[in-house]
Amino acid sequence: MSSPDPEDLLPSILIVDDMPANIRVLADTLKSDYRVRVATSGAKALEIAAGSPPPDLILLDVMMPEMDGYEVCRRLKDDPRTSTIPIIFVTAKDEAEEEAHGLGLGAVDYIAKPFHLPIVRARVRTHVNLKRKTDLLDSLASLDGLTHIPNRRRFDEALKLEWARAAREGTSLAVAMLDVDYFKPYNDHYGHGRGDECLRRVADALSARLQRPADLAARYGGEEFVLLLPDTDAAGALALAESCRAAVSALCIPHDYSAAADHVTLSIGVAATQPPSDGASLLLARADEALYRAKSEGRNRVCV
Ligand code: GH3
Ligand code: MG
Ligand code: MG
Repeated sequence: MSSPDPEDLLPSILIVDDMPANIRVLADTLKSDYRVRVATSGAKALEIAAGSPPPDLILLDVMMPEMDGYEVCRRLKDDPRTSTIPIIFVTAKDEAEEEAHGLGLGAVDYIAKPFHLPIVRARVRTHVNLKRKTDLLDSLASLDGLTHIPNRRRFDEALKLEWARAAREGTSLAVAMLDVDYFKPYNDHYGHGRGDECLRRVADALSARLQRPADLAARYGGEEFVLLLPDTDAAGALALAESCRAAVSALCIPHDYSAAADHVTLSIGVAATQPPSDGASLLLARADEALYRAKSEGRNRVCV
C-alpha cells in the first residue's frame, strides 16, 4: 500500500467566488496550511461540498450571478451531507444587516472585502479547529468505549437512514441479533477483565466479517451485538450470520463453564424485510424472537 499523500492530511477548504482574482488572493494566503479547492459558481460549490471528502470549511462569496451565496448556504444547510460544514461569508457589503442575515442562515462568521489577510487566516484557523474538535466528539459519541466498534446510538441512527433508503430504493434490509452464550458463568469464573477482553475479540471478529461499506456491526449492550445489513435478503443475512458464528467459534476462546461447547460461542437471530412493510422496530423484534429460538434450541446456532 502507498502511504497517504501529506496533502490529504491537511484540513480542506473550499473557496467559492465568481471572481477568479478574489479566489487567487484567498488561495495564496491559505494554501500553505490547507488543501484548497475552488468553485466559481454556486452549483459547482454544492457539487464539491457533497462529494468525498467534504471540505472542513467553506469561504462563500455572497454576490454571485445565478445562485447567490445566501441560496448556496440555504441548500448546504438543508442537505444532511453538508449541513455541518462551517461556512464563512465573504462580501464587500460591509453592513450589519447583511452580516445578521448571513449569520441567521447558519454561517459561523463573516469576512469583509477588501481582505485583511492576517484576519482571514486567524478566523479560518479558529473555525477549522472547532470543526475538527466537533468531528472528533461526534465520532467518539457513536463508538462503544469497551470494544471501539459503533454503539447502539450509532446503530439506531444507521437503522433509520437505511430503513428510509431501502423504502426509497425498494431493496431488502436485514438485521441480526447476536448474543454470547453462557457469558455470565464466563465472567463469574474468569473475572470481568477476561470477560471484557472476550467481548473485544468477539467485536473484532464480527467487524472483520463484514465486506460491504454500508454493513454495520455494533455493540447493542452487555454481551449482545447487532448487524445491520442493507440490500440483503434473509438468505444472504443467514449466510453472513453463519460466517460470524463460525468466526467467533474459531477464536477458540476457552470456556469450561458453557453447556454449548468448550469455547465461547454465539447464538444469532436473523430477520429481513422490505421496507416500509412493517416498521423497523418489528424487524428488530423478529430478529430478537429468532435469537430466543436459537437459545432455546441449544445455542451456538443461527435461526431465521
Ligand atoms: P445466555 O447463554 O442465555 O445468553 O446466558 P448468559 O449468561 O450469556 O446471559 P445473561 O444475560 O444471564 O448474562 C450476561 C452477562 O454478561 C452478565 C454480565 O456479567 C455480562 N456482561 C454484560 N456486559 C458486560 C461487560 O461490559 N463486560 C463484562 N466483562 N461482562 C459483561
Ligand atoms: Mg444477553
Ligand atoms: Mg448471553
